[in-house]
Amino acid sequence: MDSWTAPDLPRLPDTARPPLALYDSARQGVHPATGSGPATTTMTTGSPPATMYVCGITPYDATHLGHAATMITFDLINRFWRDAGRPVRYVQNVTDIDDPLLERAARDGEDWIVLGMRETALFREDMEALRIVPPESYVGAVESIPDIVARVGELLDTGRAYRLADGTGDVYFDLAAAPRFGYESNLDRAEMLRLSADRGGDPDRPGKRDALDPLLWRGARDGEPAWDGGPLGPGRPGWHIECAAIALSLLGDTIDVQGGGNDLLFPHHECSAAHAETLTGQAPFARYYVHAGMIGLHGTKMSKSKGNLVFVSRLRADGVASAAVRLALIADHYRENRQWTDDLLKTAEQRLSRWREAAALAAAPSFTPVLAEVRVALAADLDTPRVLSLIDEWVDAALAAPSTAGWGGAGPEGTGLEGPALLRSTVDALLGLRL
Ligand code: ZN
Repeated sequence: MDSWTAPDLPRLPDTARPPLALYDSARQGVHPATGSGPATTTMTTGSPPATMYVCGITPYDATHLGHAATMITFDLINRFWRDAGRPVRYVQNVTDIDDPLLERAARDGEDWIVLGMRETALFREDMEALRIVPPESYVGAVESIPDIVARVGELLDTGRAYRLADGTGDVYFDLAAAPRFGYESNLDRAEMLRLSADRGGDPDRPGKRDALDPLLWRGARDGEPAWDGGPLGPGRPGWHIECAAIALSLLGDTIDVQGGGNDLLFPHHECSAAHAETLTGQAPFARYYVHAGMIGLHGTKMSKSKGNLVFVSRLRADGVASAAVRLALIADHYRENRQWTDDLLKTAEQRLSRWREAAALAAAPSFTPVLAEVRVALAADLDTPRVLSLIDEWVDAALAAPSTAGWGGAGPEGTGLEGPALLRSTVDALLGLRL
């Protein structure tokens, strides 16, 4: 599946920088995430690629601010690694067949394929407008079905999955085959059961060996699309095995970062990890399970049932600059569940305007020390509030100084190249903002 056009990534001057440390939900702490290679403090060459898998959208609706915040979070990781000279192998999926897509299509009397294609196209446009570096592979569930069928077949053949005896052809994963289950989310069973029921699972379904056993393959039903499952029979894939299969096939048995919104902590990432680890015998599947916070609207949870989703495309159509949206979404830390408010956007627009004013100065203080501090702040679990305040301080100082005195022509540190121009290339390369 096509992704979207990549933004330019300016090269920045080297400064000493710590390795990226990220909060890992499994270990419940911040740890240096150096990828599969050694930690680096300077630009490296020839280091093994960092691998990242981010769970993408189910395209039944437009990209809302929660999706945008999640994609921006992993874009910051991607950009940090690239700035450090580390190759990145980044894969994202699009769940282009699943219950929510079929339900929405049925509600609106629309063909599910048309709906999925339209919303996926809109998502790409939004990602491009937000200057998100595209994944190396953007992969649909439908195109991955042969791979998923092979994985499910392997689990079934080796007794780690079972077919329900009710004639539906549905195949479930046997959690008894995954003794580590629970390590990723750190939740107790009661909470797992509650979240499973809330988030697309079926803990009450009769015939399962364990209430939490996740669906691997759904046998064909009247009125639902189905694909050839070979020995599995016709049907369609479950969600968790979709991501496990795609990640294993494209990134290898273990990966550096498994990412998504914090609503994917359980059951999705827990089950994907269990599938992957059972198939490969290697654990943990991901060295870092990284989760972005949810975005609420003026104090209430943003949700499709409340009808209060704020869509990126709507904001764009209303003339809101994508850079302001991006800046607003990184004003608070990525792990926080946070609120979208008019004030948040207004503050971001004002900040952007001041940064642009400073970027247009002929001369200003050297930005190089700020670049070094920005890298340190990003390395500390993407501390964007600190990054923004560091840049604000420099911008305030630059704008406060009379342009005819002080730094202008005062040597290499005072030229535009290391002052305003470096501000511009830093926020472009590391934050994805074009001034
Ligand atoms: Zn996923």
